[in-house]
Amino acid sequence: MANIVFVSPNKYIQGKGALKELGENVKELGSKPLLLSDEIVWDITKDVVSDSLSTQSIEYHFVSFNGEASFNEVNRIVEEGKTNEVDFVIGIGGGKTLDTAKAVADGLNTGIVIVPTTASTDAPTSALSVIYSDEGVFESYKFYNKNPDLVLVDTAVVAKAPARLFASGIADAMATWVEARATIKSGGSAMAGGRTSIAAASIARACEETLFQYALPAYKAVQKGLVTPQVEAVVEANTLLSGLGFESGGLAAAHAIHNGFTVLEGDIHHLTHGEKVAYGTLVQLMLELHPEEELLKYISFYKELGLPTTLKDLHLEGVSYEELLRVGEASTQAGETMGNLSADISAEDVANAILAVDQLSS
Ligand SMILES: [Zn+2]
Repeated sequence: MANIVFVSPNKYIQGKGALKELGENVKELGSKPLLLSDEIVWDITKDVVSDSLSTQSIEYHFVSFNGEASFNEVNRIVEEGKTNEVDFVIGIGGGKTLDTAKAVADGLNTGIVIVPTTASTDAPTSALSVIYSDEGVFESYKFYNKNPDLVLVDTAVVAKAPARLFASGIADAMATWVEARATIKSGGSAMAGGRTSIAAASIARACEETLFQYALPAYKAVQKGLVTPQVEAVVEANTLLSGLGFESGGLAAAHAIHNGFTVLEGDIHHLTHGEKVAYGTLVQLMLELHPEEELLKYISFYKELGLPTTLKDLHLEGVSYEELLRVGEASTQAGETMGNLSADISAEDVANAILAVDQLSS
């Protein structure tokens, strides 16, 4: 049997006001970080971050993120880092900012600190990035030899982000157990490159349990910008449990179908990662043999959170069968994680399941 492999960040800190402790927690990593963030996030976090870093006499070099986690953007920022002789990298923001920050730290061969300002994806804790073309089409997963040195989540900041992003993170996290379970069943490989450990399986299962219990009250609280114990639990599920669960547990059809959706043109590009993963998860459940009751449980949960469960919700009403076959081809291509569900899934199976989900939930 293949080895089990379990990876994780060196340290995870989460709490209301945790950002104030950034300086104290990064001082061992260096004295001149490159700080990557977009202008909107930086407006919100600049004062707290600058104050916290200055208490440790850390002077940072700020770089504004252009918006796409592409090789061109990574190379641009690596050059900035070299010119300014930075000694570690801090990424502050959403999924693409953080994915880019990891790639930059890898390019500079320095430590990396990840500060998610939304709980919208499970990317923060992982040792991988998703790289897109400059036009936003999925290109590849980029793997690094280590996970972040620190992931620091300020729940007060996360709770102020749009509730839609919070729901997207719930959707990304809801895929974790569904995909890890399939990976275990098929004897597939996790993203970390080995068999799924009992640890990772337990974490992935706890992720789903936490979300079924607390996601709705947490989502309602975040609509008002409130931090509650439910919000803390769901931020942990979206970020830590899902992050560890997918990386050491395994991805399968839900994310492969998400990646497949990125080949389509049009308004589907306005959906978040998690929104497309939500539909991909329903498609995976449809490709597996689950009773009606089980399928409807997921569909109604997603509906309550405003997540897409129909082609109309995906802005794909009137999509042709040929286009769905293109999604199917992309999601079953070599190197995709579809194999963790089954090696026998065809593009046609995927296209049919996409339509069947729409039929069941419309
Ligand atoms: Zn994801």
